[in-house]
Amino acid sequence: MMDLNGVTALVTGAGSGMGAATAKALAKRGARVAIVDLNLESAQQTADSINGLALGADVSSGESVEVALQQVVNELGAPRVVVSCAGIAAASRIVGREGPHELDLYQRVINVNLVGTFNVLRLTAERMSALDPVSDSGARGVIVNTASVAAYDGQIGQAAYSSSKGGVVALTLPAARELARFGIRVMTVAPGLIATPMLLDMPDEVQQSLAGQVPFPQRFGAPEEYADLVLHIVDNEMLNGEVIRFDGAIRLQPK
Ligand code: NAP
Repeated sequence: MMDLNGVTALVTGAGSGMGAATAKALAKRGARVAIVDLNLESAQQTADSINGLALGADVSSGESVEVALQQVVNELGAPRVVVSCAGIAAASRIVGREGPHELDLYQRVINVNLVGTFNVLRLTAERMSALDPVSDSGARGVIVNTASVAAYDGQIGQAAYSSSKGGVVALTLPAARELARFGIRVMTVAPGLIATPMLLDMPDEVQQSLAGQVPFPQRFGAPEEYADLVLHIVDNEMLNGEVIRFDGAIRLQPK
């Protein structure tokens, strides 16, 4: 088990949902947590509950993340634990009633979900690589990304979202292989249906129908269960270069 007391952790998208739950779980273990979100107000809410550091940043912007990371380094030190939860969902058909899928929308989803994940990984890995190792094996830290089961069984209307999450899945192994020489592990979680604002804002009947598609347990996952998995990944040094489905065995239907 990694001793997280006083260790700096950085979580993106931590103003809401799985990111917020993960920031809280890391703080409970003694980590000093930087909470990064596009929405500074929601980041501040999470930060207030755990005495963390709130930062407003757009993960898809190189400059924005560099500025935020520099502040984290100045105030808390370079992070040894990084969790990317920032993401957006979008639904649009490739050929719809209104015409073809908007190229702008496709690019925006790729930019936030895939480019944003890579941007955070590249900048935090550089800082992490300069830290001293903390274990006999030479471990310096761990980066956990968030994909989705839509990377594997994307539904109709999820061309952009699935493409972006498929990219995160494909990034995992080459990043883990390359960063191994620094003792930095890279893992990805691919959640199924998790009870965050994104799903809970849907009508009740849609929620019930979706939850009914999960073989077992027949319910949405809780953000805290995602956070538990992230903490296990942080603690278990043999987990590296892999994507873990976190989904109650759901396989999404075409629609
Ligand atoms: P959420 O509650 O909507 O949280 C996502 C957070 O990311 C929001 O606070 C959002 O801020 C922030 N964000 C969006 N764009 C950003 C940007 N460019 N830079 C920085 N922050 C940004 O969603 P969640 O359900 O916890 O999702 C976490 C991750 O899990 C996402 O990558 C999502 O795709 C993935 N996922 C979710 C589910 C699910 O069922 N919930 C399933 C599979 C995968 P704003 O509120 O200001 O937009």
